[in-house]
Amino acid sequence: MQHSDSELKEEKNITNKPAWLKKLSIVIPLYNEEENIEELHRRLTDVLPSLGLDYELIYVDDGSTDKTPLLLNTLSLSDPHVIVLILRRNFGQTAAFAAGFDLAQGDVIITMDGDLQNDPADIPKLLAHINDFDLVSGWRKERKDPYFSRRLPSMAANLLISRVTGVRLHDYGCSLKAYRREVIKSLRLYGEMHRFIPAVASWYGVSVTEVETTHHPRLRGKSKYGISRTVKVMLDLITVKFLQSFSTKPIQFFGPLGLGCGFIGFALSLYLTFRKLLFGESIGGRPLLLLSILLIIVGIQLIGMGLISEMLVRVYHESQRKPIYVIKEILGQKEK
Ligand code: UDP
Ligand code: MG
Repeated sequence: MQHSDSELKEEKNITNKPAWLKKLSIVIPLYNEEENIEELHRRLTDVLPSLGLDYELIYVDDGSTDKTPLLLNTLSLSDPHVIVLILRRNFGQTAAFAAGFDLAQGDVIITMDGDLQNDPADIPKLLAHINDFDLVSGWRKERKDPYFSRRLPSMAANLLISRVTGVRLHDYGCSLKAYRREVIKSLRLYGEMHRFIPAVASWYGVSVTEVETTHHPRLRGKSKYGISRTVKVMLDLITVKFLQSFSTKPIQFFGPLGLGCGFIGFALSLYLTFRKLLFGESIGGRPLLLLSILLIIVGIQLIGMGLISEMLVRVYHESQRKPIYVIKEILGQKEK
């Protein structure tokens, strides 16, 4: 990745560079990436100064136990664009992103991995779409990861996530993404949710697009994830779907299930009662009796859960003064 001097000075032409875009923040989580940091910084500084924008590079050290914090410290001393955040322990990639987001001051915030699998040269490509969309996601079309342990599960996950959340992306897992500031600032991330940001953001009415980006194999350092991530992603997906559809009306989710169970249970017990009263049959040993009792109890439980959740929703929104809507802008309001 050597560029001649004349190439370096030439401004990378971001088509469509919007007037509101003055400053970029790049947020990069790093967990034991000592072998990659210097090359990463070199590649970033190959691209960023030529964009003609002010920028800050936020490196988040996620509790590394190797020389990562030390190397980051050195970078921060030599390059004024660098901000280093050192977390007390390993909190996970999502938390590392969140920490970086809280600090970021850019109008557009770009996230990427710190293991050189994403290519900083793709940043102008993402920025080319940021005037038309609130969130631009990278798509590792030619992904360079092992097939069976990574790409296959990821393909299935992408299909599933797209279907379930209704936000269709080829590659939810790609860290290289560009967000407008307001998208990031209105989000709260939990667990391993960073991959679901496009889906969560869609609740806020955020527009999303994707562009093809290059992907490199991991040459140095170890991947921090294995196949076990699949289970976590599935559980997170259920959470996201639930929150997306029912977070302000949980009784609409639990209620129908509860009513359904309760009604079937009641109908079955009614049927058994008739058999007992009209035909004098003994019903005490019938499995159907157990089933009907089970269904009635589960039905009541589900409705109860729905009601408790309704109270939780109110506590959540009212204690934080969190509205159940998001305003884009207010027009024609008089100055007070
Ligand atoms: N990472 C992190 N905290 C963690 C795990 C990973 O900050 O607990 C960082 C890691 O250093 C890398 C990025 O997240 O910069 C992506 O991790 P990795 O390359 O291991 O994931 P993969 O590309 O294999 O999905
Ligand atoms: Mg990687």
